[in-house]
Amino acid sequence: MAVNKEVYNEINKAFSKQSITLVAVSKTKPVNDIQELYDWGQKDFGENYVQELVEKESLLPKNTRWHLIGHLQTNKVRYIAPFVYMIHGIDSLKLLKEVNKQAEKSGRVIPVLLQVFIAKEETKFGLDEHELYELLQNAVDFKSVSIKGLMGMASFSNDERVVRSEFRYLKSLFDNINSNINLYHAPLTILSMGMSSDYKLAIEEGSNMVRIGSLLFGARG
Ligand SMILES: *Cc1c(COP(=O)(O)O)cnc(C)c1O
Repeated sequence: MAVNKEVYNEINKAFSKQSITLVAVSKTKPVNDIQELYDWGQKDFGENYVQELVEKESLLPKNTRWHLIGHLQTNKVRYIAPFVYMIHGIDSLKLLKEVNKQAEKSGRVIPVLLQVFIAKEETKFGLDEHELYELLQNAVDFKSVSIKGLMGMASFSNDERVVRSEFRYLKSLFDNINSNINLYHAPLTILSMGMSSDYKLAIEEGSNMVRIGSLLFGARG
């Protein structure tokens, strides 16, 4: 069996006690594996690629909560706007504007997270601190998106101190925004950080939404 049920049960039990949302990251994994996890009660799934997400959405139960967690191109927003549950990777005003526009067309308000660049690597997407504050202030007039929180990815590092400090930094931005509600039109409630390799650290540093793929579905090929 491709899905690790023992690990799922363990994580699920621990998370529900702490009110942490598990997003099962199913990118590249077959629909059968997703259906299996769904049948065990998992409803939140994360995908990185728009085309793959659209295909899977058409094949799985309608109350599946689909999270787009990967980098999103502006010209692809319209394909997912009618059904996507949450978009994690908002990293520009241009993208947020397009999500707002497509959400309005679909008669929806789409929940989004702003992605913040917290890692040392140059390859990761996201806003810096200044851009984050600016985007929050510019987003006031968007009526068809709801900014729920922040998302970040730590460095791929074995050095626990590095990873921990990056998560801590994101939590400090989250707290700062929430303590300046007049300025940033918060409150934010969701802090999406942590994946298979670092989710325990992320939770210790305040994460309440964790995106786990390979631990549940096995390594990606
Ligand atoms: C692939 C991916 C994950 C899951 O990674 P695992 O190491 O398989 O748990 C989480 N978040 C994002 C943004 C991803 O792209």
